[in-house]
Amino acid sequence: MSNEKTTGLSILGSTGSIGRSALDIVRSHPGRFRVRGLACGKNIDMALLQAREFRPEILSVDESLFARASDSLAGSGIRVVAGTEGACEVAALQSAEVLLSAIVGEAGLSPTWEGIFPGRTVALANKETLVVGGQTVIDRVNERGARLVPVDSEHSAIYQAMAGHRWSDVRRILLTASGGPFFGKKRKDLERVTREEALNHPTWKMGPKITIDSATLLNKGLEMIEARWLFDIPADRIEVVVHRQSIIHSMVELRDASVLAQMGVPDMKGPIAYALSGEERLPIGVPFLDLVKTGQLTFFAPDHETFPAIRQAARSISRPGQGALYLNMANEVAVAAFLAGKISFTEIFDVWEQGLIRAPGEIPGSLAEIRQAVVKATDVAREAVLRIEEQTPRPASAFRN
Ligand code: MG
Repeated sequence: MSNEKTTGLSILGSTGSIGRSALDIVRSHPGRFRVRGLACGKNIDMALLQAREFRPEILSVDESLFARASDSLAGSGIRVVAGTEGACEVAALQSAEVLLSAIVGEAGLSPTWEGIFPGRTVALANKETLVVGGQTVIDRVNERGARLVPVDSEHSAIYQAMAGHRWSDVRRILLTASGGPFFGKKRKDLERVTREEALNHPTWKMGPKITIDSATLLNKGLEMIEARWLFDIPADRIEVVVHRQSIIHSMVELRDASVLAQMGVPDMKGPIAYALSGEERLPIGVPFLDLVKTGQLTFFAPDHETFPAIRQAARSISRPGQGALYLNMANEVAVAAFLAGKISFTEIFDVWEQGLIRAPGEIPGSLAEIRQAVVKATDVAREAVLRIEEQTPRPASAFRN
C-alpha cells in the first residue's frame, strides 16, 4: 500500500510558514516521511530545534550563523552548511525524492534550480522560480525528467481538479482572487493610499512585500504567470474571478461546460500535504467545510481600470521573452520605493509599465543568464523610480503617513 512507503523529503525555507506547516504534517504522520535536508535563513533557534527533532543529513543556515549552528550540532552527525551554496547542497541531496521549495523571493531560484534532477518531485511554493525562470526552468524540468507540483492554493486546486481529467479537454482555468484590501475602490481613491493603509490588510498578517502585492493585485498576476508555465496554458485561457470568501481555491472549465472547483476551509496544510504525499489524501487536522454556515459564495469580475496588474501580467507572457522577469523585478523595486516613501501607490503601476516596455525578447539559456537578466531588469526599474521622483516634485514626507 502506498501509505506504507517512506518519502525522503528536503525543505528549503524550513522555518517559514510553509516550512513549519510541512514539518507539522511530517510530525503527525510518523514513518510516512523522512527529513533528509533542511535549509533556513536567520531563524537559528527554530532551525536548531528542527534539526534535533527531525535529524536531517544536512542543515543549511545563513552564513552569519554557521559557527553557532556548527558548535551547537557538533557530534550530532548532522552536517552544517551555509548560504546560497549550502541551500543548493540541501536541494541537490539525492536521498530526498521530494524537495519542498519554500524560500521566499529571488533567493529561492538557484537552490530550486539545483534541485531539479531525474526522478525528483519539486513541490513548488517559491513564486520566482517560474515567474523569473519561466521557459528556462520548464526546459530544465523536462530535459531532466523531474516533476513540478504546485503548493500555492490556487495552482494546487487546479492540479487537484485535474486528477483523472485530460488537459486536452480544458477550455479555461478560472483563478480565484480575494480582491485584496482595496476591493471596490476606484483609481482616484488609490492615488491617495498611504503606506500604512496599504500595509493594513484586513484578514491576513503577511510580510510587507506580499501585503502590498495583494493590495495591487499583482500577486494574482504573478499566479497567472505561474499557471501559464505549470499547466502550459496561454494567458488568454486563464480567467481571474474575484471570490471574496476564499472557499473555492480555483476552478477548471472543461469543453463540455462542466466546471470543476476545489473547495475547503483556507489552510495551506491542504495543498502542502497533497504535494508532499504524491497526491495521497492525508488527514491533517484542517477543519471540515461547513457549507451551510458559509452561506453564500459570491463572484465578481476584476476591475481592470482600477487595478492594471492582471492585464499587465497577461501582457508579460503574451509573447516569448523576459516580460514576466522584468515585470517581477520592476515590482520588487517599486514596492520597496513605495514602502520607503519615494513613490505613490499608483506610481508602482508606472514602474511595471517601464519594465514591460524594456523587456527583451530573448529567452535566457541558463541560470547564469537568468541572473544577468535579473540585474539588468533591476537597473531598469531603479532608473524608472528615479525618473518618477525627479518628475514629481513633492514634500519629502508626502507619502510617509
Ligand atoms: Mg495563492
